[in-house]
Amino acid sequence: MEGFHAWVEQNCPKEIRGKPLKYSGGTKHKIPSPAFELWFNACVERGLTVPEWSPDYGGAGLNKIDAAAFREALNEVGAPLPLFGGGIAMLGPTIIEFGTEAQKKRHLPRIARGEVCWCQGYSEPGAGSDLASLRTRADDHGDYYLVNGSKIWTSGAHMSDWIFCLVRTDQDAPKQKGISFLLFPLDAPGVTVRTIDLINGGSEFCEAFFDDAKAAKDDLIGELNDGWTIAKRLLQYERASVSRGEFLPRGGNLPAALKKYAPDDAVARDNVLRIEMDDAAFQLTKARATQASMGSRTPDFATSTFKYLSSELESRRLEAIIAMAGTLGIGWTGDTFEADELKTTRSWLLSRGFLIAGGSSEVQRNIVAKRVLGLPD
Ligand SMILES: Cc1cc2nc3c(=O)[nH]c(=O)nc-3n(C[C@H](O)[C@H](O)[C@H](O)COP(=O)(O)OP(=O)(O)OC[C@H]3O[C@@H](n4cnc5c(N)ncnc54)[C@H](O)[C@@H]3O)c2cc1C
Repeated sequence: MEGFHAWVEQNCPKEIRGKPLKYSGGTKHKIPSPAFELWFNACVERGLTVPEWSPDYGGAGLNKIDAAAFREALNEVGAPLPLFGGGIAMLGPTIIEFGTEAQKKRHLPRIARGEVCWCQGYSEPGAGSDLASLRTRADDHGDYYLVNGSKIWTSGAHMSDWIFCLVRTDQDAPKQKGISFLLFPLDAPGVTVRTIDLINGGSEFCEAFFDDAKAAKDDLIGELNDGWTIAKRLLQYERASVSRGEFLPRGGNLPAALKKYAPDDAVARDNVLRIEMDDAAFQLTKARATQASMGSRTPDFATSTFKYLSSELESRRLEAIIAMAGTLGIGWTGDTFEADELKTTRSWLLSRGFLIAGGSSEVQRNIVAKRVLGLPD
């Protein structure tokens, strides 16, 4: 499709431009407004909720460069992403790579049309960075599995319809073996989802408990006991999406904050300049990497570099704003603070979380050291 900018201009209603709107679809999220619904439907119709997927599965069949150009057009016009979440960013590409044709036909079009909202069942109380220590198990009962165990930090599980879940299917195999990648609905009997109250009063995180929850055999992706390969690939898709800014949108305006809070502070100016230059270099490197990887449909270990840099840069940017704003940068409520200041405090705290989500910065550095630089263990 040619002329993305013109198309977005024509189809994105003015009243939703520049607004921080996010829509994750599924049966529990309300579409933000009638104007957003027009935009969403226009994108679904052209396959632009998932620009890179084949039209057979609800996509627009764009190559990487054109998909990046479409995202750039959204930025230029200030149009929100029509659809957002683990279904399009993580699970969909994973099913495209590892799923059977029947699994693709069953799940992908529903993700593309925003009919099902997915959450990620990876972390457990005893398995975070050391994910392969997971203990949730799925036992073979003929034509279905019974799942028992629990997951934690499951973002948005209370608002999701299905979960993609790592389960142990061979109790005796070494820990990276014997793991499988299984999908099942959260309204299945035996599934309990509880929200975790956060210090800011929100509760986007959940615990999920499985007590003889049934999962269809048809919903095991890839080979039985070979889920670790799939799990790692999905993390690469997740990290690529974090570094595109889909999960961690840019918060605050660094040059404006310098002008407002510290116009005569040479140290602050120096810090802002360094961050801006690192950011510009990072954006160019990302664009170069997108072009260099045109021939390959799958991400690689370099996604760890991008996830690490994007989350660290965002955190540095917000920390610099908070430092320049002084006490105005740590307000939570009240009319002594401007709306933008209250928003920046929240963005800063969110950015701290993204140094951990999708694998912490330390874990990304380990991966880069081993897999990209080839350093010994
Ligand atoms: C915003 C957010 C959203 C999340 N959403 C989800 C979700 O939807 N689904 C899901 O399954 N999980 C989710 N998580 C959980 C996330 O994947 C884990 O928090 C993360 O993998 C770290 O695991 P942990 O919390 O158990 O910390 P630990 O693994 O216990 O790590 C503690 C500290 O030790 C460091 N560390 C651990 N191992 C090493 C090592 N080998 N070398 C160097 N340092 C190390 C870590 O970097 C960290 O600083 C989310 C987390 C956050 C913050």
